[in-house]
Amino acid sequence: MKTNKLVMIPGPTPVVRSIQDQMGRETVAFGDPIFINDFKELLADLKEMWRTTGQVFVVAGTGTMAMEMAVANTTKRGDNILIVSHGFFGDRFINLCERKGLNVDILSSPWGKTVALEDIEKKLSEKKYSAITVTHVDTATGVCAQIKEIGEIVKKFEDTIYIVDGVCATAAEYEYVDEMGIDVLFTGSQKAFGVAPGLAILWAGEKALARRVALGTIPEFYIDFEKWIPIMNDPSKYYATPAVNLVWALKESVRIIKEEGIENRYERHTKQAKAVQAALEAMGFGILAEKEHRAVTLSNVLYPEGVDDVKFRATLAAEGAMVAGGLAAYAGKMFRLGHMGNIDKHTLVSTIAAIERTAVKCGMNIELGSGLKVIQEGIMGL
Ligand SMILES: *Cc1c(COP(=O)(O)O)cnc(C)c1O
Repeated sequence: MKTNKLVMIPGPTPVVRSIQDQMGRETVAFGDPIFINDFKELLADLKEMWRTTGQVFVVAGTGTMAMEMAVANTTKRGDNILIVSHGFFGDRFINLCERKGLNVDILSSPWGKTVALEDIEKKLSEKKYSAITVTHVDTATGVCAQIKEIGEIVKKFEDTIYIVDGVCATAAEYEYVDEMGIDVLFTGSQKAFGVAPGLAILWAGEKALARRVALGTIPEFYIDFEKWIPIMNDPSKYYATPAVNLVWALKESVRIIKEEGIENRYERHTKQAKAVQAALEAMGFGILAEKEHRAVTLSNVLYPEGVDDVKFRATLAAEGAMVAGGLAAYAGKMFRLGHMGNIDKHTLVSTIAAIERTAVKCGMNIELGSGLKVIQEGIMGL
């Protein structure tokens, strides 16, 4: 019999049946009154739940497009931008901004660590930055940035727009747009929302919207806030075709989040991450991110000496769980395990069980049940 394969990579994450059902619905015209009403309700919920008086955008595209959308609407050629990078995805902003003709300054940390808050404040006071980018959770390192604390710093610099990449965080890590001083926050549908890939979701606060107006006409066409604002305020209007079925799928995801309670969802992710990470450590694996700055959405798991990455991940896939490999200098040295979105305790226990079987098959000296005991205790709050 074929083993069911759990999708435990950091996106796409497992898509629950009720969300799949929305994608399987008969596609209607984007002008259908039922769809228009559903879209309106979704936008209102997203705005309220992430707490901004500004604007929310739901546009077909991926997280990378949202990165570009954030930068395109808040900066112009020749501006200075500060990129705070905790890994591969933080670095992705560098070339993106250089191509736009921005003057890029970078603050980065060794992988697994964070850039010090003092260094960010010092850098921001050295010259006028139009924007700063921070990746909430860098998926390459599993490091969670101090979004709230950095927000307090950026508030002191009125010319600087605070752009937060929430692609591996939003709907799992605590994020309140206006309260945290975030000017632009964005994510993709396939990460902690647990929807299939294909939608970018972006929140822009009042300060970012004012910046967009001040820029006048921008070179970008599809991702221009000004083009989308009329549609987001009245989805019966047309600019470019909405991804009808994905919008429904996202609406179902939001319904699930509301049913759980967004605060409960944040707490569940914290508890699940601690349990998973403790179980992995009990089996003899390491975690790349330093303890105080670990993400709740994924774990970047270091192999003990002598374990072959290719063999390990192939064995784990055969045992029923797909995980992702390490990036850059960590290729071959670690695997990345997603645990965000609509993942329940059965999935977590099965995943740890599959990792245990794999560890034994790959020659690690562990006792079966050593990780399972710890995850069970974590889930039960013992
Ligand atoms: C996945 C990811 C992206 C890129 O998103 P795509 O949907 O693959 O374009 C950007 N930033 C972070 C932090 C991510 O995890």
